[in-house]
Amino acid sequence: TLFSDFALAKPIQTRVAEGGYTKPSPIQQQAIPPALEGKDILGIAQTGTGKTAAFSLPSIHHLLNNKRKPGRNECRMLVLAPTRELARQIADSMTGYSKGLGMYVTSAFGGVPINRQKRILQRGVDVLVATPGRLLDLVDQRCLDLSKVEILVLDEADQMLDLGFIVPLKKIVPLLPKKRQSLFFSATMPKTISQLADQFLTNPVQVSV
Ligand code: AMP
Repeated sequence: TLFSDFALAKPIQTRVAEGGYTKPSPIQQQAIPPALEGKDILGIAQTGTGKTAAFSLPSIHHLLNNKRKPGRNECRMLVLAPTRELARQIADSMTGYSKGLGMYVTSAFGGVPINRQKRILQRGVDVLVATPGRLLDLVDQRCLDLSKVEILVLDEADQMLDLGFIVPLKKIVPLLPKKRQSLFFSATMPKTISQLADQFLTNPVQVSV
């Protein structure tokens, strides 16, 4: 399989080639085609397998093909990550994959002043990568409206639970539109995680590496 075998928009193929990727990784081979069809994904994959591109590339394709200006305090795609380091890393990768495509990617996590994040969100963003605690702070302060989210990604779900994010996650789910695409990734899939996944996903395609 080559990246050109996927139905990804040309400019996204170009970004991938510029990034020096020649061949999709196994998780990308499995996840990208069903994700491009708009299906929910339950992915079992560790860091280092290329899962960031696996969820980012089909999502950017959707945002680009259904382009609209996000409303004030809205985001079109929400990525939840357990740590600020991972949130920053995902935001950097997504900025690279969508370079020159007119996508606004931002991140929001604790430990840094919230005011700058509020100002950026005010204008509306295409992609918001956030940790659950800071995300809820922004919602509670009426600086973020999740009712227009088209794509939700939950990354490293097992680490989310280990870090005690189950309560914020359960508060976030009902704020999201029911009609959306959800992509859920975890390195392991014990019962607690698959039960959490059930709350986020509808008829998911399961992929694992
Ligand atoms: P991740 O598992 O998403 O953290 O990605 C691990 C590393 O692999 C990152 O540095 C990516 O830039 C890189 N990567 C992702 N997909 C590919 C690919 N298809 N070919 C080469 N490198 C890749």
